[in-house]
Formats: sequence, C-alpha cells, structure tokens
Amino acid sequence: MLNLTDNFGRSIHDLRISITDRCNYKCVYCRTGTNGAAYAELPFEDYLRMARILVGLGITKIRLTGGEPLLRKGIVEFVRDLAKLRTAHGKKPEIALTTNGHLLAEIAQPLKDAGLDRVTISMDAVDPERFARITRVPNGYESVLAGVRASRKAGLDPVKINCVLLRGFNEDQIANFGKFAREEQVVVRFIEFMPLEEDRVWTPEIVVTLDEILSRMSEYLPLEEIAHERSETARRYRFSDGVGEIGIIAPVSHPFCGHCSRIRITSDGKLRTCLFSVWDHDLHELMRRGATDDKLAEFIVKVVEKKEERHHIGEPGFVPASRTMVHIGG
Ligand code: SAM
Repeated sequence: MLNLTDNFGRSIHDLRISITDRCNYKCVYCRTGTNGAAYAELPFEDYLRMARILVGLGITKIRLTGGEPLLRKGIVEFVRDLAKLRTAHGKKPEIALTTNGHLLAEIAQPLKDAGLDRVTISMDAVDPERFARITRVPNGYESVLAGVRASRKAGLDPVKINCVLLRGFNEDQIANFGKFAREEQVVVRFIEFMPLEEDRVWTPEIVVTLDEILSRMSEYLPLEEIAHERSETARRYRFSDGVGEIGIIAPVSHPFCGHCSRIRITSDGKLRTCLFSVWDHDLHELMRRGATDDKLAEFIVKVVEKKEERHHIGEPGFVPASRTMVHIGG
C-alpha cells in the first residue's frame, strides 16, 4: 500500500482543496478589501481527479476551503463525488469544510446528506457589531449563527468555530467565546495570527498567544487540558464543570511542523506543501498536457518528499509565502 511520506519521515494523509479564492467577506486581517479573485478556478472534475489520485496515495481526509467555498455552485455534487472515493482500507475519506458560514444555513443539510462529515466555521467575534466591523459586511452575524445551528441540526459533528485573535481588536471576546461554546455546544478554537495577510500588518506583538488565551479564559472559568492526537493541530481544553470545549492552535508560539500531515491544492490546481511555501507545484498544468494518473502520482510523490521542514515565522530573514491565506486556502 502506498503511503505519502516526506524526507523528514512525516506521513501525509490530510489534503486541503481550495475551490475558489473569491470571498464574500473582507476580514480586516486577511484581505485589503479591494481585491477579489487573483487565481483561476478549475472545473470540479479536475479537483476530483486530483483527489482520487491522492486518496490512492494515502490521503484519508479531505477539507474543502477557499476563499469562500460556498460561493461555488455545485459544491453539494462535488462532495457527493468525493464521498464515493475509497481509501486503501476501503473506507470513504473523511470530508470536512471550512467556511465563513454566511451561506451555510440553507446548504448544511444537503451537504451532510451528500457525505460531508464535519464543518469548521470562522467567527472572530460573538457580537453582531464587532462581527460586521471585522468582516466589513453588514448583518453577517445572524446568517452565520443560523449556519452554526443548521449544521448542528444536520448532524455535522463536531461543529467547530475558528477564531483568529488580534491584539487590541478582538481579544476581549475570549470569555464571550467560552460562553458561546457552552451555550451553542460547539468547539471554539482560537488560532494565533500568522503572517499570511494581504496587507502585511503582522508583528509578533499583535499575536495573542496560547498562554494568554488560557490565562484569560481561566479568569472566566477553570479549564482542564484533554489529550490530543499528535498530528492534531489544536491543544484541547474542557471547562472543569464538563460543559464545553475549546482548542488553541498555536503555530506561532508552539509550532507543530514536526507533526504536520498536510498538503494543499490551490483553486488553480497548484500543489503546496506548506502554508509558508515560497513556490508551488503545477499539478494542473501536467494534467492539462495529458499526463496519465501514474505520471501525476509520480509527480505528487516527488513534490511531497521535499515538503519544508518547518516555517520560519518571527525569525530574522523570514521570507513571506508566495501567496496570502485567502489565495492558498486556509
Ligand atoms: N472563507 C473560509 C472561512 O472563512 O473559513 C475559508 C478560508 S479562510 C482563509 C480560513 C481561515 O483562515 C479562517 O478561519 C480565517 O480566519 C483564517 N485566517 C485568515 N488569515 C489568517 C492569518 N493570517 N492567520 C491565521 N488565520 C488566518
């Protein structure tokens, strides 16, 4: 059986596919507010072929992302087709989605019925006004909350909420998010801000770190750490009364590159081996030129072998990634 492995011995089984780099939100820390799509979108059958080859090579989990993936018409049928793939163990790959949730309420059940297993919804505030200031879209909060509730009702399990904290901007939301996790029965995960934005505003000082989040949340209610899988990016905590879970993804203060199991395909069909890659690998161009599945698999294996050892955030001489988050697929 094939197993994608890089030169540092890491097994790669987690694939993220960006199906568009367009987005209906203009989050202040992500986009300049003026730019839309910068790269092409491929027909779903092209992503499906790539996914099929990658599942044949050992990928067991596929996450759809963007841009905003729900802007693509045909996503339900795409999920249905992905759900027909089988891993080497004869299992359906796990299928997940990362979305801003704005268009989710209507489509959560159809996605679940098509084979989606899990959803992660991004929210950077739990009050409507602050939410609008961050996303630069009016009245989004109600739509996203409806999306969160529809996802739970549809049985997408667990529903995770991802929140990026920026100092001086939304770190006062930490305890409110704790309350939200408990009331809405969702797992809230805080993500440290990484230098992947269009506006290049990142500084180490703007990052609200794991230690700080823990200390602020503990002022609200005591927490206990829960064991997590080695390849899991989030450290997990539950409130000590047993109600509610939060997670912290700390790529800046506690990097987890040594356990990274991920590769990405961008909306225009480039393979990326790290969020911080300074180049990508043109899988789609090979396909377009008529390469067979075997040739494409050979190309993927070679690219994955050279996956970067780690990122260099905060180090002198840090070279920014060749694309920003919205154009990679977070
Ligand atoms: N539009 C979808 C969404 O909002 O979830 C998917 C794409 S979005 C780029 C994926 C995630 O990346 C979001 O949770 C967003 O907050 C996060 N993100 C964007 N820029 C980031 C940065 N510089 N550092 C950390 N996370 C970032």
